[in-house]
Amino acid sequence: MTEKGLLLVLSGPSGVGKGTVKSAIVENKVFPFEYSVSMTTRKPRPGEVDGQDYYFVSEEKFGEAIKQGELLEYNKYVNNYYGTPFAPVKKMLDEGKDVLLEIDVNGAKTVREKMPDGVFIFLTPPDLHTLHLRLENRGTESEDVILGRINQARQEILVMQDYDYAVVNDTVANAVDHIKAIVDAEHVSVKRVIDTYRKMVRED
Ligand code: 5GP
Repeated sequence: MTEKGLLLVLSGPSGVGKGTVKSAIVENKVFPFEYSVSMTTRKPRPGEVDGQDYYFVSEEKFGEAIKQGELLEYNKYVNNYYGTPFAPVKKMLDEGKDVLLEIDVNGAKTVREKMPDGVFIFLTPPDLHTLHLRLENRGTESEDVILGRINQARQEILVMQDYDYAVVNDTVANAVDHIKAIVDAEHVSVKRVIDTYRKMVRED
């Protein structure tokens, strides 16, 4: 029987750099994993590729996916819907592949309820001022939207208590190093490997 892969959930406040950290992990192939591409009703930003960054869909199509029970979780976030298609995640985990989700804190809460065995990593900003500057520098949102996201971040930081790990995104390289260390450690945690060893001693 193939051992199941790890479900890695990377979350944290908007603008904390989840997307950048995720991209660094993907581009540098920091550890072997599959990325779960989310579905969204948000319009693509310059450079974003459909099917790679997101599946960009209409509200109607998103509503249909909810109705058909195709989403592991979904959330409305600053006027747009975001959700995780469940079938590909399940397939990859069953094949023994680690799967990375990069989702907002509400989505992560739902995933924790449905798949408590996942590894939940909370990415934190060094401070709220840095978060504000990062959102401004990205230059893709209006000041109103930025203020909305900062307010949301204040509340989101407190939900860290429901996670397994907190990683400070002071630099992307540091955050990536910590995440790699977490994944390596999780792969050898006794609760995950004990069944393999039980089988080994029975077979001896
Ligand atoms: P952005 O519009 O900046 O790409 O993403 C906005 C927020 O939506 C980010 O916090 C991002 O992590 C989150 N997000 C992306 N995909 C999903 C998803 O599938 N589900 C949920 N709940 N949030 C998501």
